[in-house]
Amino acid sequence: MSTQAVGQAEAVHDYGNFVAGDEVKSGTRSFLSHNPTTGKVWGRFVDSTAAEVATVVEAAYQAFKGPWATLSPTRRGRLLMAWGAKIVAEADRIAALETGQNGKLFAEMRAQLRAAEDWLVYFGGMADKVEGSVIPLDRTSVFNYTLREPLGVVAVIVPWNSPTFLTIMGIAPALAAGNTVVIKPSEVTSASAIELAKLAVEAGIPPGVVNVVTGLREAGEALVAHPRVRKINFTGSDAGGRAIAAAAGKRLVSCVLELGGKSPNIVFADADLDRAEAGVLAGIFAAAGQTCVAGSRAFIQRPVYDEMVQRLTARAASIRVGDPMLAETQMGPIATAAQLAKDESMVKKAVAEGAEVLHGGERLSLPQFPGGFFYAPTILHRLSAENSLLRDEVFGPVLAVLPFDDEDEVVEAANRTEFGLASGVWTRDLRRAHMMARRLEAGTVWVNTYRAMAFNSPFGGYKDSGIGRQNGIDTILQYTQTKSVWCELSEEVQDPFVLRTGGSR
Ligand code: NAD
Repeated sequence: MSTQAVGQAEAVHDYGNFVAGDEVKSGTRSFLSHNPTTGKVWGRFVDSTAAEVATVVEAAYQAFKGPWATLSPTRRGRLLMAWGAKIVAEADRIAALETGQNGKLFAEMRAQLRAAEDWLVYFGGMADKVEGSVIPLDRTSVFNYTLREPLGVVAVIVPWNSPTFLTIMGIAPALAAGNTVVIKPSEVTSASAIELAKLAVEAGIPPGVVNVVTGLREAGEALVAHPRVRKINFTGSDAGGRAIAAAAGKRLVSCVLELGGKSPNIVFADADLDRAEAGVLAGIFAAAGQTCVAGSRAFIQRPVYDEMVQRLTARAASIRVGDPMLAETQMGPIATAAQLAKDESMVKKAVAEGAEVLHGGERLSLPQFPGGFFYAPTILHRLSAENSLLRDEVFGPVLAVLPFDDEDEVVEAANRTEFGLASGVWTRDLRRAHMMARRLEAGTVWVNTYRAMAFNSPFGGYKDSGIGRQNGIDTILQYTQTKSVWCELSEEVQDPFVLRTGGSR
């Protein structure tokens, strides 16, 4: 990384791709990154061409064939753990970098950086537990066993909202299984990925095992199309996921897809309303709605509807929006000018379709950050079942509130979406909680909590929210291929043209 003053910005940092342990700045094209709090340019990155992508993939392939393959699984695991410790030691620095990139609260980014170690320890500990099995064949003279082998180079393509967290979630199981990786970070948040990769080398992970290629969508497309890439882990929009699945299908490689959501947060009248209020707020406004699991549709049972709507509106009005680096700030800016424009236009469209704004619904102009991308915490009500806001993901601080009468009605309404990532249920009724958990079409159901995640609990989408899973004990198998080894132990000559007496089975 180097620093130079240009244009409107005080200083612009120049970054290169991270290839085989070195930062390479010889990019032919570049793109700029803005700080969403100030609106100013702060970073310049390589917009990698297909040829530059190929160089990075080749480095990953050489490391896969060479140093990574020769290490014992135990040693590989230990190196992942050592990397986790390095990330924790640098958590404040990298979290500040992330907040400068995507405007999310420093406190949240730091917590995610610190959590990265848990993921690397969990999957690092699994590296020497990727076991095959012995199969008791009918043909008793054969010793048949399976090997779980790595695939090769894994592409990990991530969005901007939780950059380190999602990157580590994707690469930890891939590396533990013996693959090498090429990370293609979002063009909004490329810097933290490069810093992570540098720490991997400092932790002793051989150069070439963790690489970063920066660029716009075309760089991602070139990565997915590269013949040496044997698996794709993609987190991002459903449009991106469909394009990647199609490209992967052409090459007959498989992918893990973690896509968008339109998650319901359902409050029954018997719920603890204080907890439900906090959970609904946290589900949508805690990350300015820029989380795949945002609880963007709050269904509230009619007896408590008016009270809950009044509570939520009052709380939305009191949210402290401002500098994401300050501990007292509750909501930072929107990550990009494009996302801000999307929030704005989707709310306008919903209103044109008949919804009414209870709070927000407009950009915020903060005197201390005149160029910042701020949007008010927004609540809409009186939406018809056909309103586009109930169908399309905003990825911003926009909540739709809807009344309901009974379980059947809310199950039908909550499942009326192509997405199926997450859901929340607030109730004190045990039977209802478990029945709702069964009936909701979502990869995660939270009961009396929201937006919780752990390295050892599977996470992923039903329906259009994705394919495959992150986290949990089975995840690592997605980054392996099974080889069946048949070893004939009898000394009998198995001549197909000699007639044998007795059964062949
Ligand atoms: P995006 O799909 O625009 O981009 C994500 C990444 O993919 C970027 O690095 C981008 O350059 C790359 N990319 C996009 N199209 C590509 C293609 N055709 N081929 C190769 N690479 C391509 O998403 P975004 O706007 O950065 O992130 C927001 C989206 O991510 C939201 O829809 C959100 O729900 C989703 N998300 C999902 C999860 C999850 O775990 N399910 C987590 C966070 C975010």
